[in-house]
Amino acid sequence: MKNKRPVLLISLAAGLLLIGCAKAEEARVDKEPDVFDKSDIAMGTVVTERIYTQGEDPTDQILELLSQTEHKYLSWRDADSDIGKINEQAGKGAADVDGQTMGYLEEALKLAEKSAGAFDPTIGQLALLWDVEAEDPEVPSEKEIRQLLEDTGYEKIRVSSENGTDQVELEEGCSIDLGAVGKGVGCDEAAAFLKEDPHVQGAVIAVGGSVLTLGGKPDGTAWKVAVRDPRGGQEDLLGVLELEGEQYVSTSGDYEKYFIQDGRRYHHILDPATGCPADAGLISVTVLGENGAVSDGLSTACFVLGKEKGAALLEEYGAEGIFVDQEKNVYITDDLMEDFRLEASGYVVFPLSP
Ligand code: ADP
Ligand code: MG
Repeated sequence: MKNKRPVLLISLAAGLLLIGCAKAEEARVDKEPDVFDKSDIAMGTVVTERIYTQGEDPTDQILELLSQTEHKYLSWRDADSDIGKINEQAGKGAADVDGQTMGYLEEALKLAEKSAGAFDPTIGQLALLWDVEAEDPEVPSEKEIRQLLEDTGYEKIRVSSENGTDQVELEEGCSIDLGAVGKGVGCDEAAAFLKEDPHVQGAVIAVGGSVLTLGGKPDGTAWKVAVRDPRGGQEDLLGVLELEGEQYVSTSGDYEKYFIQDGRRYHHILDPATGCPADAGLISVTVLGENGAVSDGLSTACFVLGKEKGAALLEEYGAEGIFVDQEKNVYITDDLMEDFRLEASGYVVFPLSP
């Protein structure tokens, strides 16, 4: 994995310079950082934080930031969020949105195009129809699926930025769901916040299946990010990634949210081409990309695309990944191979190349 240390060293050096100006602060530079741990619910998932800082405990502020990100920008459930407003206006005209929302939406649209629609931010109605987390989920009828597919398609979204106003317009019947990038966006917001704080030396934050690592640990050892065994229990690991500095890791799998009907597994990642759960042979996809939104979106897109097309998409983004298929083969991109340690038995590792 490309080492992002130089950037980090520069920003740390800038922080030290600032502190160096104030004599009274000098003692702080050498002080061992405190470690703050927190685990709570935000963005509809479990958030786990560990932060090394010479300053105050920032863990609650990050939880607050994640909730704000969800309610202000992303949530389709929230009529007052930007996405809620866009959906409400579908077929009636354009909605004004915050630049932040626009940025994330443009990232999602770029991924939709590059993945030839395997990632599609208009899949929300179909996700609701399948509702795999319902108490008594059921496979919907073909007719229902076909009807909703007609209102699905990222080309039904129009974005424009004129005179400093960002606007989004949706065709009637269509709606936007950024669920597949939401947790990654949360990691991006947390990273931006922590990078502003010169006291923070290192952090690892997991927002559900999306993980951010930043800076380093006081003992200088690598961050360890666990990848779950897709066919094991909650606590079982496929393996561990050892990473340095700023990284964004997201995993999508068929084991997170699913139900079984007539012996078949129906999970929450849909193939927009069929309106049904993706069935390209993969059971887990982990991606390391340039930011959280990209990593999260790519893990969903690659899951839908399958091994060959997924590998090509990773290459296009300069991203790294670990794909696990139904035969328990684990495919890893070259640069990541030496950072991953397989722990689960029954799996075999191979290189992943397009
Ligand atoms: P999780 O929500 O478990 O982290 P993902 O990041 O893979 O999982 O996102 C899955 C969610 O994204 C689904 O719950 C659904 O709302 C939405 N989704 C499902 N399939 C797609 C797809 N092909 N493109 C975009 N979003 C999708
Ligand atoms: Mg995702």
